Amino acid sequence: MYKPEVNDTTTKILKGLEEWAGESAHSSRFFDFYLKLLQIQAEAEERSGIPATGLGHEELNRRILDGTTLIKMHETDIDWNYASSIFNQLANLFGDYSDILPGFTSISDVALPAITAEIAQSWLEGNIIPSDTEKTVLEPQALATLMHHTLRPFLTGYGLAFKERFNQHSWRRGHCPVCGSVPSFSYLDKEKGARYLVCSCCNTDWLFQRLDCPFCHNVEQPLLSYRTDESGLYRVYFCEKCKHYLKAVDLRKVAEDINLGLEMIITADLDRQAQELGYTSAENRLLEDPSSEL
Ligand SMILES: [Zn+2]
Ligand SMILES: [Zn+2]
Repeated sequence: MYKPEVNDTTTKILKGLEEWAGESAHSSRFFDFYLKLLQIQAEAEERSGIPATGLGHEELNRRILDGTTLIKMHETDIDWNYASSIFNQLANLFGDYSDILPGFTSISDVALPAITAEIAQSWLEGNIIPSDTEKTVLEPQALATLMHHTLRPFLTGYGLAFKERFNQHSWRRGHCPVCGSVPSFSYLDKEKGARYLVCSCCNTDWLFQRLDCPFCHNVEQPLLSYRTDESGLYRVYFCEKCKHYLKAVDLRKVAEDINLGLEMIITADLDRQAQELGYTSAENRLLEDPSSEL
């Protein structure tokens, strides 16, 4: 089984974004912010590497069949002091760019929690603030966004460690089998045009039905639709039931390998168009502000 030695998921996205910006002469405050965010994450990712998970096949298969996500924070070897320092760096970065990131204006004045396995697990399960950190006055949404971006470089290594260890046909759920986060992107594969979802946090991709909403599991065909862009390369799926959307790239339309993490970022125009039509992203992240431009 192929397993890379080094986790360069974010480094590749960062390089791709720099090249893309160079070619398109793209520069903006939002773009500067994004580069700095990726630089911090790439460094954390490089230092964390790809962990040995220690999860046996039997237990792994049991979790997949039960619908339990593979990562449990107390089972990881994440250095929580280091994760806390990344959290602080990101909080400062978000504060520096609070003119374009509503919700982070007063971040320099608040007490930031130290990140522990317990807090991280709580975030993974959707319970944002455990009781012992309620002294922080950071808005729950802002805290969740920071947690997402803090944990991402630690979790992408687990995504790679678990990749190909689970049976794609045994999961088929709307959330990530590795970390439980919602997808922020999807693709149709080269061979059959099967739809795969891409995790917004750990970058894992997994097989999912084409005519099913991953966010509310609506399968009523009249309530599901998609639009294709002029090139035919990109799609946006819409669900009328939960009003969420999901972007996709059709890999049957491209000859070369593409970086899905990069595609996710540079298709911000599609997010803007979907949001103008009244749909929202299910992902908890900062790119949802339609006024934000790359
Ligand atoms: Zn994930
Ligand atoms: Zn839905």
